[in-house]
Formats: sequence, C-alpha cells, structure tokens
Amino acid sequence: MKKAGKTLLCFAIVCVLVLCSVFAGKEEKPGKEAAAKTAAAKETDSVLEIKKGAKERSQYIIAIDAGHQQHANSATEPVGPGSKTKKAKVSGGAVGVATKTPEYKLTLQVAKKLKKELEEKGYQVYMVRTKNNVNISNKQRAERANKSGADIYIRIHADASSSSSVRGASMLYPSLKNPYVKNLSKSSKKLSNCILKSYCKKTGIKSRGLFTRDDLTGTNWSKIPVTLIEMGFLTNSAEDRYMQKTANQKKMAVGIANGVDDYFGF
Ligand SMILES: [Zn+2]
Repeated sequence: MKKAGKTLLCFAIVCVLVLCSVFAGKEEKPGKEAAAKTAAAKETDSVLEIKKGAKERSQYIIAIDAGHQQHANSATEPVGPGSKTKKAKVSGGAVGVATKTPEYKLTLQVAKKLKKELEEKGYQVYMVRTKNNVNISNKQRAERANKSGADIYIRIHADASSSSSVRGASMLYPSLKNPYVKNLSKSSKKLSNCILKSYCKKTGIKSRGLFTRDDLTGTNWSKIPVTLIEMGFLTNSAEDRYMQKTANQKKMAVGIANGVDDYFGF
C-alpha cells in the first residue's frame, strides 16, 4: 500500500509539472510574437533609413582612370566640349627619378589596388584601363567614365617638378569659372578635399592642398564630379621609392577609398 501511495504521489507531481509546462508554453507564445513584431519594426525602420538617407555603397559606381599609357599620343583633341583649344590626346607622363618607373605603370598599380579596396567596401568600380598597352585619349577616358554610369570619376596621377626637393600630394578640380564643367566645381571640390585628407592621413605624405585647373581635357569632358590626384612627386627620390613599395601602394589605395566613403557620408 505504501508503495502504491508513493507511485500515486509521483504521478500527481508529474501531472502538475506537465500542466505547468503546457501553460508556460502558452504564456511564452505572446512573448515570441511580440519579439517578432519588434524585429519586423526594426527591419522597417532600417529600410526607411536607407530610403531617407544615402544609398548603400553597392548602389554607387566609381570610375577610375589610371593616368597615361605605355605610348604617348601627340595627336590633338579639344580641351573641352566646343573648345578651339587643343592638347595632346595623351602626354608621356613622368618617370621615377630613383626607381626609373614610368608614371603609367605606377598609376595602374595603384588603380588596381584602389579597385580592390572599393569593391571590398561594397562599391561598384569601372576601370577606364586595365592594361598599359592601350591608346585611349583623355577625352575618350572621360567619355568612358560618363557612359559607365559612374557617380564620380577619380583620375590617378603622379607629379613632377624641376626641383627634386618638391614633394607632397595635391588634388586638381575644375573651378567655378570653368567654361565646360563649372556646375561640377562644388561637388568635385568636396570629393577632392575628402580624398586628400584621408590619403595624406593614411600615407603620411605631405598635403600640398587643392588646386583648380580648367585646362585638363580629362576633367573638362566629364559629366560627373571629377578629381585628379597627384599622389606624390616622381622627381623626389624619397617619394618615388615610397610609391613603388607594394605595402605603401595599399595604404595609398586605402586612403583614397576612405575618402570616397567620406564623400558619400559612410
Ligand atoms: Zn600625369
């Protein structure tokens, strides 16, 4: 009899426990629903935020032109739409005083690394050239960038001076008086400023500042905000050597890519 009593008690306890868990389960349900509702609300909020604010990185296209090419093209073309002034289609570019590396090789090396950095961030990238042995005029380069659907156009160059002590990076953009693209001046200045700041911060290269230039064919034919970066001086042996190191080129690319983020507000 004692044994039967214990068994009954055990059965009763088990029943209570089972009932409790059933009720507990029922009580849990509205909690889960509430959580699901909150998650849905959060999702809606973030969707609204994207709609309200800037686009996502993946919705932007960045056009990159690696300045110059293996062989210069001295045939001429108008410096801007409707212009009677003509300049060489592609000039020869500078050569590293210490490493003897031509500018066209350096610009493509950095442009390729910049493409990688921007794509890793999520941007779409359009490359005007991916090889050194091409023949694309500065006007054609701008037209390719325009056609690509890009939002901004970055022209990669390195500087030269008759004085070997001159060093530093600068950005060239169209002025408010530019006869062809004055409407792009303000946005191009902002883009130039964002890139120069982050480029110099990342590389430690001295900033020479922003300069307006209205005589650049590749800038004057652009239909999108455009900047030309002079990454450093090939005529300065320290900067020439710096720019030829792969690890430094990565820093240069990261600096430019971070500037693109700043421009779009990321
Ligand atoms: Zn150049």
